[in-house]
Amino acid sequence: MTLAPIIAARGVTRRFGGLVALDGVDLDVPAGIVQAIIGPNGSGKTTLLNALSGASHADAGSIRIGGQEIFRLKPHRIARLGLARTFQNIRIFTNLSVLENVKVAAACHTPAPLFNIMASNARHRQNEADIETTAREALEIVGLGHRADDRATQFPYAQQRLLEIARALAAKPAVLLLDEPAAGMNMTESMTLLDTIARLKGKGLTIVLVEHNVRLVMGISDRVAVLDFGKKIAEGAPAEVQRNPKVIEAYLGRRHRHA
Ligand code: ADP
Ligand code: MG
Repeated sequence: MTLAPIIAARGVTRRFGGLVALDGVDLDVPAGIVQAIIGPNGSGKTTLLNALSGASHADAGSIRIGGQEIFRLKPHRIARLGLARTFQNIRIFTNLSVLENVKVAAACHTPAPLFNIMASNARHRQNEADIETTAREALEIVGLGHRADDRATQFPYAQQRLLEIARALAAKPAVLLLDEPAAGMNMTESMTLLDTIARLKGKGLTIVLVEHNVRLVMGISDRVAVLDFGKKIAEGAPAEVQRNPKVIEAYLGRRHRHA
């Protein structure tokens, strides 16, 4: 028996003027796996995550999350289906504490203020307490529980990235999209990150991991899809993809061009 994929994308296409950033990409992600999306810089990885999360829509194709078509749905509606993401460029509030940063994200997923006006004060306080609990749990998961009261500005880069993941987790997603979470990390920090991703998978989350470093995702991914010039050129188990001549050519070819 095969389970219905939690993400099912068909023919996803995105153009920027004359440039075809995504060209008819299909992707099926079964629930509970770590799906890596790799490819040289500019191959369309971020554009694909943007299409999946609704941050910037595809021009054509179909994307189903948990069976529901999300094509042209607003990002907050897609988030409500249980999808959360981090961005390639860090987006945290440096003037807030670590805990406050996560609470802001958690608060986005509770009823709007209008409802709070009508709710009793007791219920409002309950809401506040829930947000704080959710935020602290998210920080624990990424190993930042003990840093809750620190200023986010005091954080080195690697921990800011973990904080971004905690913010995404505060939405209690079923699917987590990570855009190059290891960018700027050294080897030790990258290993800690991979541990965290493995723990999230252990909790039943489906993870889509965008990364341009092939080696980094090999140990952790159940499946790897490879993009090159907006097309999916390979897909399969990590070892299989790593020795695929098309994949080797895409990486070597691109490096020569930039050299
Ligand atoms: P990756 O994440 O794999 O490095 P991107 O998805 O960011 O690649 O980009 C894919 C291609 O689309 C690149 O050629 C990039 O320059 C182009 N691109 C991405 N976003 C835009 C945009 N907003 N406007 C114009 N071109 C874009
Ligand atoms: Mg990118």
